[in-house]
Amino acid sequence: MERFDVVVVGAGFSGLYLIQKLRDLGFSVLVVEAASGVGGTWYWNAYPGARCDVESFDYCYSFSPEIEAEWDWSERYPSQPELLRYLNFVADRLNLRPHIRFDTRVTSATWNAEDACWTVGCDRGEPVVCRHFILAGGAISVPKPPEIDGIENFLGPTYHTGNWPHVPVDFTGQRVAIIGTGSSGVQTSTAIVDQVAALTIFQRTPNYTAPLINYPLEPGAMDAFRGIAAARHEKSRHSRQGIPYDFPTRSAFDVSDDEREAVYSHAWENSHLFALRLTFRDLLTDEAANETVAEFVRGKIREIVSDPVVAEKLTPRSYPFSTKRPCIGRGYYEMFNRDHVRLVDLNETPILRMTLAGIETSEGEMPFDAVIFATGFDALTGAAGRIDIAGCDGQMLRSKWAGGPETYLGLMSSGFPNLFLITGPGSPGPLTAMVKSIEQHVDWIADCLVWMRDKGFTSIDPVVEYESAWMAHVQEVADGTLYPRANSWYVGANVPGKPRRFMPYLGGLGVYRAKCDAVAQAGYEGFEFV
Ligand code: NAP
Repeated sequence: MERFDVVVVGAGFSGLYLIQKLRDLGFSVLVVEAASGVGGTWYWNAYPGARCDVESFDYCYSFSPEIEAEWDWSERYPSQPELLRYLNFVADRLNLRPHIRFDTRVTSATWNAEDACWTVGCDRGEPVVCRHFILAGGAISVPKPPEIDGIENFLGPTYHTGNWPHVPVDFTGQRVAIIGTGSSGVQTSTAIVDQVAALTIFQRTPNYTAPLINYPLEPGAMDAFRGIAAARHEKSRHSRQGIPYDFPTRSAFDVSDDEREAVYSHAWENSHLFALRLTFRDLLTDEAANETVAEFVRGKIREIVSDPVVAEKLTPRSYPFSTKRPCIGRGYYEMFNRDHVRLVDLNETPILRMTLAGIETSEGEMPFDAVIFATGFDALTGAAGRIDIAGCDGQMLRSKWAGGPETYLGLMSSGFPNLFLITGPGSPGPLTAMVKSIEQHVDWIADCLVWMRDKGFTSIDPVVEYESAWMAHVQEVADGTLYPRANSWYVGANVPGKPRRFMPYLGGLGVYRAKCDAVAQAGYEGFEFV
């Protein structure tokens, strides 16, 4: 069997940086990737309108002077095609492809305690053996289909936004249904609304959507960015959310009602996704403060949507603002004023089944030419869950996590030595600009592997008491906020049967980074080495 120091699952942002970093440090690395190309999330989510809601300057690598010098972003927010071009550019410029096995899915990984190595099985080819095994398959990467009877009956095409075909899909003149109104549904619907003959949006929970203020970058913008990039990245690394904006110090009640309204209006009209969230410090910790911003968005919906009945259906009331990830989409609420757009509130009009011709609801059958599922992901644990991972004494990771994921620092899980997670449960990843979190994890893991190599250690495993304490801390921090009140994918509520537990670490990226660094400096406190 072929042997590597490190085998990595996934050739997205994490996998590509892992190759570069570990190869430079003298480790042999194999990345196994199910897709035919690099990109990870940005490979699979090729749906119309897919765009990152973090600015280009913050959603890019900061480790490579060559990449920074040679790559020019074209827009404030990068589109999916541009991100895919960027990651392909990185793969070519740094010559990473020779380390990637494409069109291959990892199916199993078995720990061999005697040799301190993992045997990694794939859906094609021979198994490979490695000392360290890194799950970099993405925190939000396993598409979750909707629980609807008879999907297979429908004669027209169905699509999931998270597994979109890599050939053009033309909806011109078609009657299209979209199920799901999270970020993917908002982006898809606003992208295809001009193309289709009729668009029907099936909504289970209304979202808070802010307008996308995107624009082409002016000539000279890239040079200006390069001039301050190092400082911008450094600020982001130590920020709460991996973006270079200060966390507010004022309470929503430190200002008058008029001033608060003006602050929200400014954020709504001029700024980035996080702008509304970053107006006052207590929006995610104080219900009354949150209600001020929630009511501001509700007012915008009433202002924009001309039919008050539709406006009310679109109005989120059942959970605090931003406790589910808010969406951005230019013209989302405006779209519902158009004659060919219809909103179906699934709480009033549930779907009974899919039929040969379309969707049958409690009010009758609706014919469609195509149906799009924008129904989200089995987030944070889904990617690990579909690999048969057997650790010490044959314990399966999915059995250990049956009651919810258990990790130390979101980086490792006790009983699974030399198995690392990138932006896994218990880390702040999904609540930050992901690339900053990815770089922090890759750097920490790389330092750890070098340290082990220098000390002659062959395996590392977290101490179970440290792991339990970390998960209790993750929960305690979450409980100090309003986040657990929403039925979000952060708590696994979107996947039937998934145990409810707040999975990301809410302490902030900067605080988390300091904790991880302190653990390393203390000789990897909380880990056992052999
Ligand atoms: P999502 O936020 O989980 O939204 C899924 C939508 O589908 C929700 O409206 C959900 O309703 C609905 N849904 C799920 N199952 C359903 C069912 N059986 N019947 C009817 N409706 C159902 O998923 P997403 O929009 O793909 O986004 C996931 C995450 O990916 C985002 O939160 C974000 O972190 C990331 N993302 C980012 C961008 C960006 O950068 N712009 C774009 C896309 C995605 P409920 O709310 O009731 O569960």
